[in-house]
Amino acid sequence: MSPLPEPAAERLPARRATVGEGFDIRRALPHRHRRTIGAWCFLDHAGPASFSAGRGLGVGPHPHIGLQTFSWMIEGTIQHRDSLGCDQWIRPGQVNLMTAGSGIAHSEESPPDAAGRFQLAQLWIALPKAEAAREPAFDHYPELPVLERGGFRVTLLAGECASERSPARVYSPLIGLDFAAAGDARTELPLRAGFEHGVLVLEGSVELDGEPLEPGILLYLGSGREQVGIAASSPVRLLVIGGEPMREEILIWWNFVARTRAEIEAATRDWNEGRRFGEVRGARTARLVAPDIRDLQLSAGA
Ligand code: MN
Repeated sequence: MSPLPEPAAERLPARRATVGEGFDIRRALPHRHRRTIGAWCFLDHAGPASFSAGRGLGVGPHPHIGLQTFSWMIEGTIQHRDSLGCDQWIRPGQVNLMTAGSGIAHSEESPPDAAGRFQLAQLWIALPKAEAAREPAFDHYPELPVLERGGFRVTLLAGECASERSPARVYSPLIGLDFAAAGDARTELPLRAGFEHGVLVLEGSVELDGEPLEPGILLYLGSGREQVGIAASSPVRLLVIGGEPMREEILIWWNFVARTRAEIEAATRDWNEGRRFGEVRGARTARLVAPDIRDLQLSAGA
């Protein structure tokens, strides 16, 4: 095994966390040593898991500001409802992209009365300051570009790769790719040297320029690379994310991305007192209450 060339890679262990009513997930971003990769500022991997009827994901209505939520469904289905009135099922191979901007609320729930399988990557993208207070919006992408590369099936989640472009509407230069292989696969993935990149294996194991990587570790590749070799010899699924390093300092607290503590305090008050964010109609799971703002520190996630 030869070590990765400069710039050095960092191996960042994901944390175990719980979302909704007791669903265990792995949280790879934010990490205390690595808050963002490009504008990607949050990365949860939920599942793969099986659940019995009534025991799937249930995340009740909760608010967001200053970010986009990017939901990549791998197995199973989830119903998204939001305060704009959108009611959208998301299925494997599809993306829900919710732009919170100045404020939106949503719920995410598995089908209520059936057993099922479940695997989801949920990411957040910090909006740049100039876009942070834009009007909220919701987009559903039922299909994304798929490339074949050396035995990998590569889905272009966000940004551009090999003259293909994802339709996902984002507001800063970034990339997101899902790699899946059923067995032997090998490719050299071209990278933009001006981007920093990270790799998270969801299932199976891979070698990145010869370095083995398994689930539970986010491999931060830094910037300045023009390519990375990705090789598998058994079934695998992984994400590659990247983007221009953020020059702005952001605060992440609960479900909010902001520049100042005052913005977070105002959003918290508005949510807990029923202003700004509107109603999520039809959700089966209880509305979440913001944690005590006095505990404000760098933690995130509903
Ligand atoms: Mn959310």
